[in-house]
Amino acid sequence: MLILVVNAGSSSLKYQLIDMDGEKVLAKGNCDRIGIGGHIAHKTSDGRKFEADCTFPTHTEAFEKLVETLTTGDAAVIKDMSEISAVGHRIVQGAEVFSETTLVTDEVIEKIDGLAELAPVHNHAHALALRACKKVFSADVPQVVVFDTAFHQTMPPEAFMFGIPYEDYEKYHVRKYGFHGTSHRFVSKALADAMGRPQEGLKIVSCHLGNGSSITAVKDGKSIDTSMGFTPLDGVIMGTRSGCIDASAVTFLEKKLGLDPDQMSDYLNKKSGFLGVSGISSDNRDVCQAVEKGDKRAKLTTDMLCYEIKKYIGSYTAAMNGLDAVLFTGGIGENSCETREGACEGMEYFGIKLDKELNKKTRGTLTKISAPDSKVEVWVVPTNEELLIARDTLALISK
Ligand code: AMP
Repeated sequence: MLILVVNAGSSSLKYQLIDMDGEKVLAKGNCDRIGIGGHIAHKTSDGRKFEADCTFPTHTEAFEKLVETLTTGDAAVIKDMSEISAVGHRIVQGAEVFSETTLVTDEVIEKIDGLAELAPVHNHAHALALRACKKVFSADVPQVVVFDTAFHQTMPPEAFMFGIPYEDYEKYHVRKYGFHGTSHRFVSKALADAMGRPQEGLKIVSCHLGNGSSITAVKDGKSIDTSMGFTPLDGVIMGTRSGCIDASAVTFLEKKLGLDPDQMSDYLNKKSGFLGVSGISSDNRDVCQAVEKGDKRAKLTTDMLCYEIKKYIGSYTAAMNGLDAVLFTGGIGENSCETREGACEGMEYFGIKLDKELNKKTRGTLTKISAPDSKVEVWVVPTNEELLIARDTLALISK
């Protein structure tokens, strides 16, 4: 059974075609520059490639090109779109409206669009893509939506509320939602399987560290707290995002720099983080290279990340009243032994002891990297959000 996984942004449409018999990716690609031109880059699992400039006034034309590329030409992988059984879409914000994977109806699309105020960059684009997909695919191909926020809907109120007047939470839905839920759900389950334990009874701190990063306390397979908040800006320092910052510093800087709220949002989301502190790059590899050359601000940046991760591990251990395992995933979590070592250093009190040699050797593979006598297990667990979306889609349409 073939499932198409779609991750739509305002001007892009990333996709993977997955054969669920063996969970194999047949082809993947990206249609981008939607609305401002158009370009498709497509690759098959056996190494064939197709790339072209196109005209994509809207997501509809991008979907049409995607269909054409999958079914015709040198990089085709299927004969007809009828071979695709369902489409699974990644949706960033489901707020309190969606707490689980959902079958798409016109009403569902309206609700996703209605949440655009809570995710201005993403949700409207998702709605456009869902409508376009409906036009291009026949009506009997089910579409399914999987929400980044859904996994965190199990957080208790004391974890998700902000200390603001309650009426504003009720009226404007301002609260912590958390993101990267698909990844945290995937890796925490994969870790339980690797440990040979049921999720029930397991206390895990899941560290998804990439260009965007979030850390989640997963107890009994459920999210009970997470570092990202109302938007994906909160939590640890990220590529270009500041992470947690005192709100008074924001209003102070707004006045000092003469910025309006949108410019301030840009400052915190696009000019801060690794880029802002190091002054070098938003990319962890570039910052780490500068550390090796003795750059002090680069060192400060990487130290900040490790220190913040450590604090989340400590506070979530308190929240869960214990800790069985810490896992690292995402581009940085899976590949940067320096970050993992820095985050786990001086954590003996918590029962965390890394096998430093094994940690150094581990890159992107499911591996236990804690020392044999470590009370808490530490793992690298590669994430695969697309596969989880495909699995969810399959599970829902099989019902
Ligand atoms: P992601 O958003 O999950 O794709 O992760 C992107 C981040 O992972 C970037 O900051 C990269 O620099 C970082 N990254 C990828 N590979 C490595 C590596 N080998 N060592 C250190 N950081 C890496």
